[in-house]
Amino acid sequence: MARQRKVDVVTVGAGWTAAILAWHLTKAGHSVVSLEQGPARFATPDFEHNHDSLRYSIRKAMMVDLTKETWSWRPNPRAPSLPIRQFGSFHPGNGIGGAGIHWAAQTWRFYPSDMRYRSHHVERYGADRIPEGSTIQDWPLTYEELEPYYTRMEYDIGISGQAGNINGELLPGGNPYEGARSAPYPLPPLVRSQGADMFAEATAGLGYNPFPQPAAILSQAYRGVSGKERSGCLLCGFCTRFGCEVDAKASAVTDHIPAALQTGMYEIRTESKVHRVNTGPDGLATGVTYTDTLTGEVHEQPADVVILSAFPLSNVKLMLLSRSSEHPNGVGNDREKVGKNYSYQLNLGPVTGIFEGRRFRSYTGNSCMQNVIHDFNADNFDHSDLDFIGGASITAGGGENAPVVSALSLPALDQAQFGSGGDSDGNGNSGTRKRPPVAGEVGSLAGQGSEWGQAWKENLRRNWDGILGIGIQGESLPYEDQFMDLDPTYKDAWGDPILRITFDFHENDRRLYRYMAQRCLEIMREMNPSRLVVTEELSPYNVHSYQSTHNTGGAIMGADPGDSVTNKYGQVWDTPNVFVTGATLYPQNPGMNPTGPLLALAYMTGDALTTRYFRNPRELLV
Ligand SMILES: Cc1cc2nc3c(=O)[nH]c(=O)nc-3n(C[C@H](O)[C@H](O)[C@H](O)COP(=O)(O)OP(=O)(O)OC[C@H]3O[C@@H](n4cnc5c(N)ncnc54)[C@H](O)[C@@H]3O)c2cc1C
Repeated sequence: MARQRKVDVVTVGAGWTAAILAWHLTKAGHSVVSLEQGPARFATPDFEHNHDSLRYSIRKAMMVDLTKETWSWRPNPRAPSLPIRQFGSFHPGNGIGGAGIHWAAQTWRFYPSDMRYRSHHVERYGADRIPEGSTIQDWPLTYEELEPYYTRMEYDIGISGQAGNINGELLPGGNPYEGARSAPYPLPPLVRSQGADMFAEATAGLGYNPFPQPAAILSQAYRGVSGKERSGCLLCGFCTRFGCEVDAKASAVTDHIPAALQTGMYEIRTESKVHRVNTGPDGLATGVTYTDTLTGEVHEQPADVVILSAFPLSNVKLMLLSRSSEHPNGVGNDREKVGKNYSYQLNLGPVTGIFEGRRFRSYTGNSCMQNVIHDFNADNFDHSDLDFIGGASITAGGGENAPVVSALSLPALDQAQFGSGGDSDGNGNSGTRKRPPVAGEVGSLAGQGSEWGQAWKENLRRNWDGILGIGIQGESLPYEDQFMDLDPTYKDAWGDPILRITFDFHENDRRLYRYMAQRCLEIMREMNPSRLVVTEELSPYNVHSYQSTHNTGGAIMGADPGDSVTNKYGQVWDTPNVFVTGATLYPQNPGMNPTGPLLALAYMTGDALTTRYFRNPRELLV
């Protein structure tokens, strides 16, 4: 095994959170190497003229190579697991920038109550309203503590949006429920699509509070932390699953990686697959072991600090694989909490409207051109008489190139139609679409139901761009029977067990979905479509249709080592020179995309590492 020169910090992966930490650490004078399993792909030159839907949308060029690494899934602990051989439910990234290159860039702050989730619900509704078997818990920090990091992050990468609450003052046009901000967004919201405007009019008419989707896509030219001027969005339509060719969509390669490289203290080694965190006799980490996948050579990378910034699925796998006599169950797993609190989301399109003769041009733009309501998200509405807890964002009007692509892959046209604006992850799919529509409102989408041949073609010709979906992004709670562990049967290309996911929707999800589908139906009726299709009930979870890459949990943060893996800085309780980043830390998953808060958390950890940790290395931060 070749031994590399020791560095201060090694990060596993060179994705979104790794880049933020590398930038904090290198500008403070620490040497950092990022080991990235995927290829080098460096910012705009590589993404120019990338309008290749087949390569990126269909063949998933930016995602993990499933012939080498995959995950297995089973719906419950009694069922057998099977490896996922084709991309479906989620799309983790591969290569410099990680999933944060091909993301949709919808960028939120979670609610103050999301961070006091258990306490909030117990105080307002009583402990007996928490679903049986659910392991929800509070974050170990408050919204107020994270707020300055949100603001820095938003200004460093350039977020476009309309603030709803600045220092307690409510502002028209923003989200009236959001936690107080100390500053407005640095940029105005992106332009809205026709569908977004129709949704805003309908929801305002019903007494709700529509607002524009906050986005890490520039509405105007902007300079972020790298100092380079980035262009405003050109609405090209090749956004989610593509790298941005004009740098309008923020990612690790637009700002933080170039800024870290400018320090001369940063190195990224691509095609480097990390397998283990190595530990010494004192139980602390000494570095990592990885394979150079181009040569097959195995290397040891010694480091004072190891940062697991490899996306939740890989972070958990690495922790479980890092067994030693000091940590027989893996790093971070002395109390057997690694893999627990896996959560997902209800990222679905319950209602689709067909507006005969309309041309929405939904093949242009980006998913962030949508409008949103949060009147039914979180605990923004009274749950006293409801049979579930939690809520969902409701959205419509995002654009993407999906309709054109999917129209080519006949007969699966229904994917494109649900994707014309109904889904909050910039995607066109729903695990629910096979359910029958409501009697009396049976609309036929081309490619669905009993319509075939000439009739289907006619329908497609007339309506392919006249379809508007309403989507939800619903909260997902953790449960005792929902977790990640190592698969006892299947192995990856390097002989290690693959990660096994045990997950299915629970009764709270079904009830939440049923309620939200009715809200979407009311809104769609207000929009007056020629026909509509509604899916009233939630189907069981499936791995074959895309829902969201919002896999969360597995090494959650907490105030107490007895019920968490890390403290609020992502510092592992039982191995304090190992840090974990990203949605791996979330105890449960709110009804919004996860990346805004995990970027802010990376800022907070970066500050703690540079200003405090290295003064007292290996001690737990308080
Ligand atoms: C299609 C899509 C749309 C999305 N849209 C949104 C959105 O609109 N809003 C939002 O908030 N979030 C969105 N997300 C999620 C967002 O991309 C992630 O939350 C974010 O990228 C997570 O950052 P990270 O640093 O944790 O992981 P990543 O950015 O994914 O970085 C992890 C890196 O680690 C590398 N890696 C993994 N394992 C190893 C290993 N063993 N050895 C070496 N390297 C390894 C990976 O190759 C990757 O580069 C979307 C994701 C996808 C896929």
